[in-house]
Amino acid sequence: MGSEKIALIHYHEISLKGGNRPLFEKALLANIKTALGGWYEKGKIFSGRIAIALGPDADEDAVKERLRRVFGIANFAFTQKLSSDFETFSQEAFDEVARKEFGTFRIAARRSDKSFPVTSQEINERLGLRIKEQLGKKVDLDYPDLTCFLEIAGKEVFLYFEKEKGYGGLPVGTSGRVLSLLSSGFDSPVAAWSMMRRGCEVAFVHFHSYPSTSQASQENVKEIAKILTQYQYHSTLYLVPFLPVQKAMLAAIADTKNRVILYRRFMMRIAERVAEKAKYGALVTGDSLGQVASQTLENIAVISAAVSMPVFRPLIGENKENIIARAKEIGTNDASSQPYEDCCSLFVPEHPETKANLLVVKRLESKLDAEALISEAIEKTETMQFTF
Ligand code: ATP
Ligand code: MG
Repeated sequence: MGSEKIALIHYHEISLKGGNRPLFEKALLANIKTALGGWYEKGKIFSGRIAIALGPDADEDAVKERLRRVFGIANFAFTQKLSSDFETFSQEAFDEVARKEFGTFRIAARRSDKSFPVTSQEINERLGLRIKEQLGKKVDLDYPDLTCFLEIAGKEVFLYFEKEKGYGGLPVGTSGRVLSLLSSGFDSPVAAWSMMRRGCEVAFVHFHSYPSTSQASQENVKEIAKILTQYQYHSTLYLVPFLPVQKAMLAAIADTKNRVILYRRFMMRIAERVAEKAKYGALVTGDSLGQVASQTLENIAVISAAVSMPVFRPLIGENKENIIARAKEIGTNDASSQPYEDCCSLFVPEHPETKANLLVVKRLESKLDAEALISEAIEKTETMQFTF
């Protein structure tokens, strides 16, 4: 039995990819390699699984944390490699099981290579019988104290007792690039994360009203970008000064009811311009239908109509409760809980429009030199890079 440390990785969705599957597997392996850094020694792709040989100084808990953040992984396990001959690996597995404390057990053998001379069922039965008789333990197929997983992949046999869950999804980088509008609230970081899980590389754009507001929102957003970079290894953050746009509106447009909608439409336009320049294929927001006044069906339609690029809203049907739970799980909750002054609460009325009308909004906007405002914002945009 080898003393090598091995992480055995399973994926589901990638297995459905047909002819493109090798591409996805390669991307997943490359991401795992980046996530593990110096702890990665080598990786081998089998059908439906990847075995990663870890360096001798790899810290198991830290490896666990990092693998959990690699999208595309459905579950993984730290395994021991056994001999490939049935009699020998049965003995090795038996010895390992004998060392454990448990009352009931189950053997879960899987054979990805059907040319292996013993079937999974035979392995389960023969090894199971031996443990029953020689160790006096009971089989429980439904709720065993101990599950002994034996996996035969090619000529290799892996043994493990515990599986760790991953987030599934697709490897970051396989679904294209998108630009996510990141406030420092709870929702947009979760929305950005959801797109990463679908395999997108996500860049972030944040609009701030400094110096009319403090720099807190920018600091929070940087912290959020840093946390989210753990899931995609490299991120770009665009910081856009939004105050000139807001001041132009304040000066030219008396109507305050539609102001947040006008803010959002300009954010969309500026984001679209950034996306076109840097080749992102879609915009992403953290809107959730009806959550706040700006997120009614009518308002969302009028906001989306400002741009022609697709706008993705992965949280549109999600409840606040679930969003917060997810934010806690992925690590953005604390940064999003930090106080900040939202640029959108500057110069806005207490009772904003909830049923925006596109014609009315366009008439208001005609009082502005939109192109000049957009160009100025783009010119003054700061760019920051983050690496994991
Ligand atoms: P969040 O929790 O993401 O701030 P929210 O529930 O507060 O969302 P809104 O403030 O209406 O909702 O914002 C809706 C979406 O618009 C946000 O999820 C985000 O994608 C985008 N957005 C709002 N403000 C900003 C900003 N200052 N910079 C970048 N994007 C923003
Ligand atoms: Mg907000």
